[in-house]
Amino acid sequence: MSLPLYVQGAWFFGALLFIVGLKGMSSPVSARKGIVWAGYGMLVAIAGTFMIPDLHNIALIGAALLLGGAAAWISGKKVQMTDMPQMVAIYNGMGGGAAAAIAAIEFVRGDVHSTTVTLLAVIGALIGAVSFTGSCVAWAKLQGVLKKAHRLPAQNAVNVILAGISILLGAAMVIMAPAEPGLIYAFFLIALVLGLVVTLPIGGADMPVVISLFNAFTGLAVGFEGYVLGNPALIIAGIVVGAAGTLLTQLMAKAMNRPLTNILFTPMTGGGDGGQAIEGTMKEVGPVDAAAMMRYASKVIIIPGYGMAVAHAQHKVWEMTALLEEAGVEVKFAIHPVAGRMPGHMNVLLAEAGVPYDKIFDLEEINGEFPQCDVALVIGANDVVNPVARTDKSSPIYGMPILDADMAQNVIVVKRGKGAGYSGVENALFYTDNCRMLYGDAQPVVGEIIQNLKTLG
Ligand code: NDP
Repeated sequence: MSLPLYVQGAWFFGALLFIVGLKGMSSPVSARKGIVWAGYGMLVAIAGTFMIPDLHNIALIGAALLLGGAAAWISGKKVQMTDMPQMVAIYNGMGGGAAAAIAAIEFVRGDVHSTTVTLLAVIGALIGAVSFTGSCVAWAKLQGVLKKAHRLPAQNAVNVILAGISILLGAAMVIMAPAEPGLIYAFFLIALVLGLVVTLPIGGADMPVVISLFNAFTGLAVGFEGYVLGNPALIIAGIVVGAAGTLLTQLMAKAMNRPLTNILFTPMTGGGDGGQAIEGTMKEVGPVDAAAMMRYASKVIIIPGYGMAVAHAQHKVWEMTALLEEAGVEVKFAIHPVAGRMPGHMNVLLAEAGVPYDKIFDLEEINGEFPQCDVALVIGANDVVNPVARTDKSSPIYGMPILDADMAQNVIVVKRGKGAGYSGVENALFYTDNCRMLYGDAQPVVGEIIQNLKTLG
């Protein structure tokens, strides 16, 4: 059925708003506005759908919108910043699942006729189904529902065989179109199992990259199904998400120096596997001495990590920075591209606390400054300052670019205990002569430093 121009126009306008929104999201300054523009785009696209003449099942569509909208509203209001990756994973899975479901309905109804459309519907369905179950596993792992990485014997062979079978079944569906229901069900079943089996062995430290990859998959799946349905909003939004997801995946894999093939086929499972034993002891410092070391320094570089996010310590950190600056200390923030659990995680938190952008520096910009810095203050960061990434070829994180905190004159590490970072690898920095551990939850610890700075005047 060819749709009226006003429906097509509304979808097209919605897609344009998605692009404007995405442009806004490219900077922390305009990100909030970008999200709102993309939201308007979604409203326009939905309104366009309701303008379709003789639209059926309006009550069902309305109920789905109400249920989905309410669930998204409530979870969006309640979600903590640190739980954002799981939220992205589950929403992304829903997108992939929706694309696969659209294709499934079209196939079962026998609505896909031309070979090109069938082929695109099959590709979209395969990618969407893999993304759906894979994203569900990613959510379960990050949420702590699934605690262990499950690796099958001959895992890679199983992955290849399942991928091969699903491609063959998909090819059969294209050749035999319209396909028998048995063939359609078998194809979807294998594609769903493939997503599960590929994702189950992947450990937590690699999971954000995998989520980003599935995000790209969902975009592609939606784009393909948009072509099948003749919906330009889906095609454009799908392509934009697919391209953005692919770029983000590449950036994250590069920042961790882990080729995507390693992430998928030789997962890092954590638990301290690999790497040389580290000798020495960790030396402690209290908030009084830590405050004095920074108060009488000329230059302090603060390195925030996941622990600062968990502790919601960003506001206190900014308060401490202001006191140090009042005392004439130069303070800079060093951000590792994969600090926290998502790209940009730390930038968003610091921006929320009011830290000006000109005090925030990327790894390449600031690494050369550590040798001239009196104190590197590491707050809840671990893997991103682990020097074994530079020195120990047997370590699972070998080759990952790190912030060179160990090269500062003095290092103070704020964390609750002696535990390893997200990758499960012991941190050699904590054992170096110039490093002192300041144990405790980041928020009260920084609060104590602030009190001591005030008494030092
Ligand atoms: P890590 O997860 O390595 O370490 C965080 C540290 O924070 C822990 O050692 C923990 O120690 C400490 N911590 C936790 N809670 C608190 C608290 N309340 N107060 C004080 N400290 C606390 O964090 P990083 O940011 O250094 O590294 C990020 C990791 O995530 C890397 O492994 C990276 O590869 C991975 N990753 C990140 C991605 C991204 O896009 N950002 C993408 C892919 C992977 P303790 O328990 O002792 O307190």
